[in-house]
Amino acid sequence: MHRAKKRLIDVVTIFPETIAPYTDASILGRAQKKSLIKISSHDLRNWTTDKHHKVDDTPYGGGAGMLMKVEPFDKAVKSLKGRKGIKTRVILTSASGKLFTQKDARRLAKYDQLIFLCGRYEGVDHRVEEHVADESFSIGNYVLTGGELPALVMIDAIARMVPGVLGSKESLESESHDEEGLLEYPQYTKPEVYKKWKVPRVLLSGDHKKIEEWKKKNPR
Ligand code: SAM
Repeated sequence: MHRAKKRLIDVVTIFPETIAPYTDASILGRAQKKSLIKISSHDLRNWTTDKHHKVDDTPYGGGAGMLMKVEPFDKAVKSLKGRKGIKTRVILTSASGKLFTQKDARRLAKYDQLIFLCGRYEGVDHRVEEHVADESFSIGNYVLTGGELPALVMIDAIARMVPGVLGSKESLESESHDEEGLLEYPQYTKPEVYKKWKVPRVLLSGDHKKIEEWKKKNPR
């Protein structure tokens, strides 16, 4: 039987311990146990050459704070990139990157390997975006302290697009954001009445045609 290639997801960060507590749990944890994906975090300081493992420095031209250096990211990507024939995409997390969407998640799920680069401090030397990364993504119009949460957000959205990752319970069939950005309908579970809050009667009717019409007419 043909078995899909395991997707490799590598996260490069100065806080590698922040990744596994999320990715080892629930659906992502199960997908890793089933060998559908493998998520690894790596300490950027492994690719420094000075004895203090320095990953940041002051910006040329002045300005507040410190920037992350290009060299450790470049070396990290070189050493993590898979064998020939493996399709790899390198993604920089950036508050000024293009906005990550469901369409990107679907597209990136097709790569054999994804390498996420996480910034900190005042951000990353621009040469990382220009020469090391293939794409740079923001997860929203706000500034976080680091790229670890954005990387996790993107990994979560991408991993669930990998065939076999979602079980029958967690369906891809109807999603809140499909390719057209259409919204899913409101959903309810037991009990039928809680306090005085009722589930719409049509959903209890068993009339599938009417239920489908109601779903179409009632986007969230
Ligand atoms: N000075 C930068 C700016 O104004 O764009 C902000 C740097 S932020 C404090 C540090 C790092 O967090 C960034 O290099 C990036 O990796 C990550 N980051 C912060 N907000 C983000 C967002 N909305 N989407 C993706 N990454 C983000």
